[in-house]
Amino acid sequence: MLIRVAVPVPTLDLLTYAVPPDMVAPVVGARVVVPVSGRSLTGIVVEANAAQDAALDGKALKSISDVLDDEPFVPQDVVELARWTAEYYAGGVGAAITAVLPPKARGIRADAHKRIRVVSITAAGLELVGRPFQGRLSSKQHSLLEMLAGAPAGIPAPEFAARGFSADSVARLKKHGLVSVRQDRIDRDPFEAALNAPPNDPARRLTAEQQDALSRLRALAAPGTFCVALLHGVTGSGKTEIYLRLSSEMLAAGRGVLMLVPEIALTPAVAALFRQAFGDRVAVQHSGLSDGERHDQWQRIRRGDVAVVVGTRSAIFAPLARPGLIIVDEEHDSSYKQEESPRYNGRDVAIVRGQRAGALVVLGSATPSMETYHNAVSGRFERIVLQRRILDRPLAAVSIVDMREEYAQGGPDVVLSRLLTTALDERVAKGEQALLLLNRRGFATSVFCRQCAATIDCPNCSVSLVVHGEGNARRARCHYCNYTARVPARCAACAAPYLEQAGFGTERVEAEVKRLCPQARVARLDRDSVRRKGALTDLLSRFRDGEIDVLVGTQMIAKGHDFPNVTLVGVISADVGLGMADFRASERTFQLLTQVAGRAGRGEQPGAAIVQTLYPDHYSIQLACRQDYPAFYERELEFRRRMRYPPLVALINTVVRGRTFSSAMDDAAEVAQKLREGDGEQRVLRVLGPAPPPLGRLRGEYRAQILLKGGNRRRMREALLAAIRCRPEIARRTTVDVDPLSVL
Ligand code: ADP
Ligand code: ZN
Repeated sequence: MLIRVAVPVPTLDLLTYAVPPDMVAPVVGARVVVPVSGRSLTGIVVEANAAQDAALDGKALKSISDVLDDEPFVPQDVVELARWTAEYYAGGVGAAITAVLPPKARGIRADAHKRIRVVSITAAGLELVGRPFQGRLSSKQHSLLEMLAGAPAGIPAPEFAARGFSADSVARLKKHGLVSVRQDRIDRDPFEAALNAPPNDPARRLTAEQQDALSRLRALAAPGTFCVALLHGVTGSGKTEIYLRLSSEMLAAGRGVLMLVPEIALTPAVAALFRQAFGDRVAVQHSGLSDGERHDQWQRIRRGDVAVVVGTRSAIFAPLARPGLIIVDEEHDSSYKQEESPRYNGRDVAIVRGQRAGALVVLGSATPSMETYHNAVSGRFERIVLQRRILDRPLAAVSIVDMREEYAQGGPDVVLSRLLTTALDERVAKGEQALLLLNRRGFATSVFCRQCAATIDCPNCSVSLVVHGEGNARRARCHYCNYTARVPARCAACAAPYLEQAGFGTERVEAEVKRLCPQARVARLDRDSVRRKGALTDLLSRFRDGEIDVLVGTQMIAKGHDFPNVTLVGVISADVGLGMADFRASERTFQLLTQVAGRAGRGEQPGAAIVQTLYPDHYSIQLACRQDYPAFYERELEFRRRMRYPPLVALINTVVRGRTFSSAMDDAAEVAQKLREGDGEQRVLRVLGPAPPPLGRLRGEYRAQILLKGGNRRRMREALLAAIRCRPEIARRTTVDVDPLSVL
């Protein structure tokens, strides 16, 4: 008998093996040990009872060496989902199965779990309790026994210290046989370190809009009925409350809930609220957890100990039984897309999983992606709108500052406009808080020579180096490959000593705020400032507790946070994203501006936003300031139609890498040629390229790009794979990205 197996090796596709006659045939989802080019690997059975593989004709078929499970280790529906992912995104099954497996699924030992000492009272101990105080015990020890008598399941040892008992008292009682100590296995609780969310009030009354939305969603959630609903609610309209109520109804009906969030650390409130509402029926899955934590959580889900999974994109593959509701919060967020193989979008996999499970899929956002809104408008998705903020709090009043006027007044070095500086001063004086957004890290964005105009560029990538730090700590760094160099005193090209810094990033903004508002307590939140584990949650909770007045940061500060005391949001430059040569530049800018403006005025005080730009008339800036999503959609759709971009056509991006520019281009030309030939008279494909993409060189390799547009993804994918596969040495250096989020 033959089976097909996926092993967690990204480059490998399905492998076919024989099951020896003396072995019980494994079921789909079971782990098996198989020989792969001289090594023993653990894989997952993807097809039991497979047909003869034509490709194997004549070759000796290898046998599996062992079967590790009688029952599926990975549930069958998840195995199927992994298979779909591998096929749709044109990646290997090996890569997809890696995404599905818990870390270290192979041979993890029971003692890899964290253990905790738990103390409980013995029968002898119980006899002493309630008796008149005897000289044998100290009064401390006596009260310890009394405490234990009230806790039949025992008390974890660390709690004694918290209540003022020494380890010594416990040890003495143990010596007298009055208490016993056991080791309990604990599943690591990833919420331990999470921010404390403000307590949720279960008796809270829903607003009329929330109530309507909930009833409509409830009606769509009939068992066995697949449906996708876009919950389009402005920032602060109370979407989370709807997720919670709907989830609780699902659980009552005995069905599971999968809740995807863009990044747990940045949306801790959502995870914490779910934990508050559903206690230990919730498991968490995200990449910030250690392997051990992830593994514990994965096992809890698989055992059926939990009914709710909250996690980042990979949680869509969680082994949860009977999912009835799948929520994708902030569905437009680019972190749902995995930028390595398999290059899947968690939102789209969620829709497929929902379809196969007969579940309701809820996509929530204040700024839906063009794809999702297009589907909603065309009737493929239901659309449910929340137009008002909770308690009818007004959206922030937005002012646009034309930076050309500021430069005319204050010179080209201005970072904070006069309006923004005054507003910051006012807020800080009143004890209110402000967020300042600049989606660019570092101090200065480039260094150039005033004499010959040469810039300091990365030797490995086609970008200029970014200056980090000031004074002696100053370094130039590449944001793509991390190459780091000193900032030289002289120009490498002409030796002139006139090197100047240009452009600015978050570090410079932080310095400017300190200079212009010396009384403000300022901190910075970007990838550089939160490298240390736990630094991000620390910073966010310090801001929440009012220990920081002004928080400067990248788009990390724009995500779902709810800080009631923030009354001012400043966008230092709305133009950062618009400069990118990417077809989603306007969409990204619109989303970022709308989201960040939505962070202001979520408490009792009304909020204001100030947006600095060189293009005050650009539609994505204008419409974001008016928070007019439908108008933006129409305008942007027109652009996509004209330029033939998604959501109006399907897009596949192919990048061929090479040691030299010409070898990359030649190989890509060959692929493009085959694609055009294969298309023949039908002309269903549009093949663009090869051409060097904006990032023509990356990490030392040259890149050539082919964009494939068309109406039928399956055909496009098949044509592309056929073109690549006839040259295996090109295939190895080629990356295929189906439904790419960015084509840089
Ligand atoms: P969104 O995710 O839509 O931006 P949130 O779910 O964060 O909005 O809700 C915004 C704020 O309103 C939160 O502080 C939340 O606790 C509060 N809230 C939600 N629903 C209600 C309600 N029915 N009554 C009072 N406050 C609410
Ligand atoms: Zn580089």
